[in-house]
Amino acid sequence: MPLPEITAAIRDAAAKAGRDVGGITLIAVSKLQPMDRLRAVLGQGHLQYGENYVQESAAKWPDLRREFGADIRVAMIGPLQTNKAKQAVELFDAIHSLDRPSLAQKLASLAQARGQCPDLFVQVNTGAEPQKAGILPDDLNGFLADCRGMDLAPIGLMCIPPDGENPAPHFKMLGDMAARNGLAGLSMGMSSDFDVAIALGATHIRVGSAIFGARPAKDAG
Ligand SMILES: *Cc1c(COP(=O)(O)O)cnc(C)c1O
Repeated sequence: MPLPEITAAIRDAAAKAGRDVGGITLIAVSKLQPMDRLRAVLGQGHLQYGENYVQESAAKWPDLRREFGADIRVAMIGPLQTNKAKQAVELFDAIHSLDRPSLAQKLASLAQARGQCPDLFVQVNTGAEPQKAGILPDDLNGFLADCRGMDLAPIGLMCIPPDGENPAPHFKMLGDMAARNGLAGLSMGMSSDFDVAIALGATHIRVGSAIFGARPAKDAG
């Protein structure tokens, strides 16, 4: 879907929900996409991107930022290995996948050393799926307290609802948890359900294939 159609759909969803569209950031998820597709969207002036892999991002974003301007923002939205955290804080403006205490500790020590930190969203495993990353809903209050104890200040929550389930209850749960904890950011909604997420308060939607087309599979390794 061309970018203008997506922005129109976002405007419609915001209007239906009685929300200001200015409170919704469209993160164009460009992981694994061919460069010509990414360049086409950059060329239309879109500024917000999302990536899942540190290696891939390191290979493309420093050059693209030089070429397309300093206002570009790139968010890490995929699982982040602790041993890649240093590279990640140098590459990304935001990390939406803060999903465990060891990563919080690593990011806290990097923030101390650098005197700055990307915007952080805590990933919550709203479906309590064993194979999925994220803080369990019952552990969120304690995890946020631990973060604050390390001088980390997450600005929001992120979730990926279970495959094949109605995402609405998960978005609702995430919104309630953010409100209870005084967090303004809600990173939720992807190509298939961003309208539902907007109705339930999303501030950041992460849309990949609807903008760029189907993704090629990731190479092994
Ligand atoms: C890949 C990815 C997306 C984008 O998914 P689409 O279905 O292509 O919109 C959003 N969020 C996360 C965490 C992802 O890994």
